Amino acid sequence: IWQNVPLAPPDSIFKLTAAYKADTFPQKVNLGVGAYRDNDNKPWVLPVVKKATQILVNDPNLDHEYLPITGLPEFTGAAAKLILGSDSPALRDGRVVSVQTISGTGANHLGALFLSKFYTWNGSKQVYLSNPTWANHQAIFRNVGIEPVDYPYYDPKTIGLDFDGLMNSISDAPSGSVFLLHACAHNPTGVDPTQEQWQQIAKAIVAKNHYMFFDCAYQGFASGDLDRDNWAVRHFVERGVPMLVCQSFAKNAGLYGERVGALHLVSPTKEAADRVRSQLSVLQRSEISNPPSYGARVVALILNNPTLFAEWNQDIKTMAERIITMRKELHHLLTEELHTPGNWDHIINQIGMFSFTGINTDQSKSMTEKAHIYLTTNGRISMAGLNTHNIRYVAESLDKVVRG
Ligand code: PMP
Repeated sequence: IWQNVPLAPPDSIFKLTAAYKADTFPQKVNLGVGAYRDNDNKPWVLPVVKKATQILVNDPNLDHEYLPITGLPEFTGAAAKLILGSDSPALRDGRVVSVQTISGTGANHLGALFLSKFYTWNGSKQVYLSNPTWANHQAIFRNVGIEPVDYPYYDPKTIGLDFDGLMNSISDAPSGSVFLLHACAHNPTGVDPTQEQWQQIAKAIVAKNHYMFFDCAYQGFASGDLDRDNWAVRHFVERGVPMLVCQSFAKNAGLYGERVGALHLVSPTKEAADRVRSQLSVLQRSEISNPPSYGARVVALILNNPTLFAEWNQDIKTMAERIITMRKELHHLLTEELHTPGNWDHIINQIGMFSFTGINTDQSKSMTEKAHIYLTTNGRISMAGLNTHNIRYVAESLDKVVRG
């Protein structure tokens, strides 16, 4: 038995972390992992999460019963308002189906599974993904029988957005195609469309009757402002674009391991939403029966209590601002102090956890082999891995590999 099971390669990011852990070099730096670290390279439990946890454990009525199949209503309801806007016309009309999922990954999976079964496919089942995208997207869609197709997104020449390439793909794709876009803080590039570009994207998506699959893993984490980072999602809802949104609280609440997320599907009518909800419940039941309660309870407390919500906004700012400061500092070191060849403005123009530095595979490998700085071979660095203690070392190492 299992003779014909091929050995799969290890996940590249987790492999990188293991190599970093095994390295005994004192100045080693981990710029691979997509998790926030404080200035001392430690995981950060948000103060508001600590507070909410205390409230939770001291609640004499807390039990460990099953949640409803679609999740904790106080969580899904507040999470929908957070991502779609509390004044959302879709929420007001009761057209939104919200299901609690196993973080953002689970939301992507459930959304993909639902589309695979119920979307009116125009010929072959395909999803348009940005090139590049979060590596898991391909696997998630393939798992449910949807074939990924690339659309141009990142332009290596400008280390920015290939807006024309993206717009051409939208207009060239067969009408009714499914397009996945990152709502903010694109992973892995850190390159987002501007609000004006989003408006044009929405117009083009509507014109071709495409379906919008939003993945939002970094609301608030990108700019430090929750409302600013859901601008694109709100704009698409206002325009009546048929869509769903995958939402994660891993990064913005620092609840990575608790797996807190939601899938929100915006339907044309309340009646359609009721039918969609019934089928999502059937799918969820067969996969996980009921979502986990702990993290959802923590987030529900924070979202529904104005004092805690204000504190959370502060905590989000703390994380986003530290990252923005690291961007500025790295840019300053490369351009003003080291005079590293090339233009490094993309470091400050990109947004969120990640930055595409523009260095190539050999240079990325050399950073790891020679300087013990761990990053993916596509030149992506996690800004959260930078701090005031290691940033000069990273800048100097980058300078060295660029000079060759
Ligand atoms: N989508 C994107 C684009 C991501 O970067 C991530 C996190 N790496 C996720 C979804 C999902 O993460 P999680 O399942 O931890 O919420």
